[in-house]
Amino acid sequence: MEAKGIADSRPLAGRHAVVTGGGRGIGLAIADLLARMGADLTLMGRSRAVLDQRAAELADRHGVGVAAEVMDVTDPPLVEAAFTSAAARLGPIGILVNNAGVARAAPFAKTDPIFWQEVLAVDLTGAFLCIRQVLPGMAAGGFGRIVNIASTAGLTGFPYISAYCAAKHGLIGLTRALAREVARQPITVNAVCPGYTDTDIVGSALDNITAKTGRSRDEALAELVAHNPQGRLIEPREVAETVAWLCLPASASITGQSILVAGGELM
Ligand code: NDP
Repeated sequence: MEAKGIADSRPLAGRHAVVTGGGRGIGLAIADLLARMGADLTLMGRSRAVLDQRAAELADRHGVGVAAEVMDVTDPPLVEAAFTSAAARLGPIGILVNNAGVARAAPFAKTDPIFWQEVLAVDLTGAFLCIRQVLPGMAAGGFGRIVNIASTAGLTGFPYISAYCAAKHGLIGLTRALAREVARQPITVNAVCPGYTDTDIVGSALDNITAKTGRSRDEALAELVAHNPQGRLIEPREVAETVAWLCLPASASITGQSILVAGGELM
């Protein structure tokens, strides 16, 4: 049978996708698009109220099964319980999008071991813990798509975010190693690397810059946008489109890649 491609209207029908941090920002845009493509969805995150509301909206809009599981990606027993419950509700998981993340900034001198561990626990170890839960089922089920939301900060260095850069570089290392390890199985593992994207993370970055430098919000925004040769923020939907493409059955030969969605910021 020919693999379903981008021209099929619901090429992910019958697949169960998990999106961590699926309640808002980039994760919500990814969840919305995967559901539009026919996937049943489990949204994972820490806020029951947010997840339940988004799950109801997505189920209503797209006519697919959508469940919500409350968990914290830094807590191994909670992660295991959430994935076990998700599979029991909507069936074996064929797609995992490791999107949950925090972007905390501090000069290196103020990056103490607790701060360091907190960032790595969410942005790197969290993805590791989630992947452990799905890999055996993907192998047994004959289909797996793992997409890790990294960052331009996974491919180059930026000042004042050493922990975030280290975690995102680590996430890309994990992506590459695992892609090779499972290459003979029907599983792909890729990273998507957005530039500054219009979500709460950028809102917090603007608050931080204005508080610490005294610059206006417009000046701070101009500074962030200047990283992107296209002179704008990335839209969450643009990141989602790339994730969705990687999840297609027809994208089976794309693995181990770190795909930039950054307006040409890096090449
Ligand atoms: P948001 O702050 O809007 O969303 C972050 C999401 O992660 C929320 O849904 C949040 O859920 C979830 N999350 C955070 N910590 C945890 C945790 N411990 N356990 C479970 N879920 C958690 O950020 P974005 O949408 O912008 O970011 C999404 C991803 O994209 C992140 O990995 C980020 O690093 C990456 N990225 C973002 C860029 C940007 O400019 N926005 C640029 C490059 C990469 P809740 O708080 O409800 O639990």
